[in-house]
Amino acid sequence: MKIYNTLTKQKEDFVPIEPGKVKMYVCGPTVYNLIHIGNARPMIVFDTFRRYMEHKGYEVNYVSNFTDVDDKIIKKAIEEGVDSSVISQRYIAECKKDMEAMNVKPATKHPLATEEICGMLDMIGDLIEKGHAYVAADGTVYFRTRSFKEYGKLSHKNLDDLQGGNRSLLVSGEDQKEDSLDFVLWKPKKDGEPYWESPWCNGRPGWHIECSVMSKKYLGDQIDIHAGGEDLVFPHHENEIAQSEAANGKEFARYWMHNAFLNIDNKKMSKSAGNFFTVRDIAEKYDLQVLRFFMLSAHYRSPLNFSADLMEAAKSGYERIVTCVANLKYLLDAKTEEAGLSAEEETLLTEAKQFVTRFDEAMDDDCNTADAISVIFELVKFVNTNADGTKSKAFIQALKDEVVMLSDICGLIVEKKEEMLDEEIENLIAERQAARKEKNFARADEIRDILLEKGIELKDTREGVKWQRV
Ligand code: AMP
Ligand code: ZN
Repeated sequence: MKIYNTLTKQKEDFVPIEPGKVKMYVCGPTVYNLIHIGNARPMIVFDTFRRYMEHKGYEVNYVSNFTDVDDKIIKKAIEEGVDSSVISQRYIAECKKDMEAMNVKPATKHPLATEEICGMLDMIGDLIEKGHAYVAADGTVYFRTRSFKEYGKLSHKNLDDLQGGNRSLLVSGEDQKEDSLDFVLWKPKKDGEPYWESPWCNGRPGWHIECSVMSKKYLGDQIDIHAGGEDLVFPHHENEIAQSEAANGKEFARYWMHNAFLNIDNKKMSKSAGNFFTVRDIAEKYDLQVLRFFMLSAHYRSPLNFSADLMEAAKSGYERIVTCVANLKYLLDAKTEEAGLSAEEETLLTEAKQFVTRFDEAMDDDCNTADAISVIFELVKFVNTNADGTKSKAFIQALKDEVVMLSDICGLIVEKKEEMLDEEIENLIAERQAARKEKNFARADEIRDILLEKGIELKDTREGVKWQRV
């Protein structure tokens, strides 16, 4: 498997630190609003890459943070007259709903910045001790950028060019810095802001330190893959490297993956220009599987343009796969006999296996989902040509399994859940109540899970158990 590594600007063979295991960190959103479709791009593409690696047999430890302390969150909290945790908790919950609707798997761990302050204090203290950071007169702690000799290696920037470009910063209220390149690790609180005690001042962390700390805590000093949108390369990821490598004395991440931006009508997405959509806006018009399909129809390193026409094209593309699976299911349901595969069917299935090989080749080539989806389309065409009522059940089942498996790796749900009848649901709920009475909680939980699997959510209320389709 090859990955394009931003660090070396090359496609490299993927070799994990520990055989069979992948440690992956993906920078998550700042939670002050509903996520927009730009935020959804890294979520979907890196979730797909994770699913592919899992399909290949890797055990993937996938960590993705929520930045829950930040100027924008604080501003919104002040506007609403609530604590900033009310804002962050609200939007974390909303973000998780969007992720679920887009079929993005929950991370192994979703750490929150505000719950990792202790680790940040430790790492900042360590950096000060090692001479990589210093405390200014007002208690701000800065990272001493020039002390990290490899600064600029990810963004391929030259320190002296940066120095020239940023000189004005020194005369705009940041004159306590030794050098304009230095960046904040910890800053003093302002009135009305959330703050934590520290040896340097009551305050809060700079943005970059959280990812270095969370990655170290949940994945260790060295990780395999670090990912996020391309806007994060500089300064966020460059600064993460400086902090982590200066503190831990080891290479931080081996492979750096960055998705290109999502634009709208060929323009940069921006709230002020009004060309801005939340995932929720899209959900009003489309099944979010269509959004997922749309994102995957381009390579993650190519800019992707969002437009009504392209979404309509994505809709029909996605539906082509769904219809193919529905047709196969229809053929299967009509079959009663259990005849084995004919010689002709055996040959056709061997031919069909080539789609799996080609799908894997595309995904092995730096997660080329665009090509992988084209292969699924070719498979669909093959199925539509070769599967009909004259074929055996085993043949149709094998083709269906193949289409569903490849779609699954892309996280595309192509098989509609079978609707349960109200009566079946009521019976299961009655059985669950009886199990609870007998203190058989294992069975009661099992029934809740069976129902959830079928899209039925239970709510225990004072008037008894209520259910709804979700
Ligand atoms: P933020 O909340 O701004 O830190 O963004 C969370 C993630 O979304 C980061 O990985 C960003 O790089 C990514 N992101 C933000 N806007 C876009 C966009 N328009 N296209 C693609 N990725 C984006
Ligand atoms: Zn980060």
